[in-house]
Amino acid sequence: MMDLEEFRKRGHELVDWMADYFSTIESHPVKPDVRPGEIIAQLPPSPPETSECFDVIFSDFQNVIMPGVTHWQHPGFMAYFNANNSFPSVLAEMLTATIGAQCMIWQTSPAAAELEERVMEWTRELIGLPDNFTGVIQDTASTATLCSLLTARETFSEWNINEHGVSASDASDHPLIVYCSSEAHSSIEKAVKIAGLGREHLRKIPVDHEYALIPEQLETAILQDIATGNRPLAVIAAMGTTGSSAVDPIDEIGTICQRHGIWLHVDAAYAGTGLVLPELRWMSKGIEKADSFVFNPHKWMFTNFDCSAYFVKDPEALIRTFEILPEYLKTRERGEVNDYRDWGVPLGRRFRALKLWFVLRSFGSDGIRAKVRDHIEWARELAEEIDSQDDFEVLAPVPLALICFRYVPPTLLHDQNGSSHPNEPIELNEVNARLLEAINSTGKLYLTHTKLDDRYCIRINIGQTNVERRHVEDAWELVRKTAREITP
Ligand code: PLP
Repeated sequence: MMDLEEFRKRGHELVDWMADYFSTIESHPVKPDVRPGEIIAQLPPSPPETSECFDVIFSDFQNVIMPGVTHWQHPGFMAYFNANNSFPSVLAEMLTATIGAQCMIWQTSPAAAELEERVMEWTRELIGLPDNFTGVIQDTASTATLCSLLTARETFSEWNINEHGVSASDASDHPLIVYCSSEAHSSIEKAVKIAGLGREHLRKIPVDHEYALIPEQLETAILQDIATGNRPLAVIAAMGTTGSSAVDPIDEIGTICQRHGIWLHVDAAYAGTGLVLPELRWMSKGIEKADSFVFNPHKWMFTNFDCSAYFVKDPEALIRTFEILPEYLKTRERGEVNDYRDWGVPLGRRFRALKLWFVLRSFGSDGIRAKVRDHIEWARELAEEIDSQDDFEVLAPVPLALICFRYVPPTLLHDQNGSSHPNEPIELNEVNARLLEAINSTGKLYLTHTKLDDRYCIRINIGQTNVERRHVEDAWELVRKTAREITP
């Protein structure tokens, strides 16, 4: 088994490997060309009975695992939203693993609890949230949204559902209703299911031509529910939808929520990082009306997964929703300090604040702003370029650094048949699906798709930590070249 001396030696070697990986990352295909089952077939069905030497393990890592890895830190990774790392973040993660602290309560690592408190205050200031929000790090935005809905449910029921269960409350006669836009992330539906509210009680409100929730439609739905004896519980507004990064009008939604006494949570998983830029603060206008807000530094703020910043107006309500106090967790300091196990679902917690602290200090606020600003500028340049072409079009506004576009080969434009858009041939969707597949199979670029109004569009997201303008130019060149190649 590995001893301390070998650990030291291998550690140095691995850091060299890591630096080499970063310096040669562009030589890897962004997305591996593997078939389902190909990797697992190379892994023995049972664990080894005796110790294996590190050379053998590491060689399998290189020969079996690496060929099946998707390279999220490749500058050609323009799929989904990025899940970025950065050098300081990776180094901090090594320290976190080395310290190996389980930070469930203050006493199990006082520095972790106090650093988390301070780093969340820094983050709040960096993105311009009001001072009366308190932050806590969650693993993901999905978890934060679940925490928010559970807190909403408990506040509404005055902690009766926690005590007596959903069935014991009058929820069956007068269901609690949750609202979000038809473009909102699937994690909301998941949270509604887990919270015992029932998926049929989630109202997906229509969006406008920019894919943002229509406030009037929200209010109409709320009034209809009230009229039928249902009880509006919460609205989840999207600041940056997953499909097209559309920004719901938080201010107007907040006013409606206040009028009807409804909880407001804002899901800014991707776009929240954009708030580092004063010129993007229009997105958070009215945020003071929200009860909670989440964004993911593990997306666009160069802090490796997982690190989701969850901010609440009323930490007492959050804690009261989640706290459990078995004898073995009672400590002398309780009440004086933050025991973060009470601020979310899991008991055990990783020391995530460390990597965010390293990132915030190493980049500086200016460094973060500069990168985010570059990404947005390059995305807007590219969007203009795409829109200026006869055979391409941009299908949604580009408030941040995500472009939804499609290829419109002139040959197809004359052909009109049974598409849901009367003037559009249905083949457009198929052509763009083929184009996406062909682009991704080059290994140079990885893009994903969505559908907006039933139109298949290709998403290109400029946000990788080390992406440069040249990568964006190369990506566009590849899209155009591939489009020409697949056109009959
Ligand atoms: N909300 C939005 C708007 C997202 O785009 C995403 C993921 O892309 C999520 C939530 C889910 O994030 P997580 O993986 O942190 O749960």
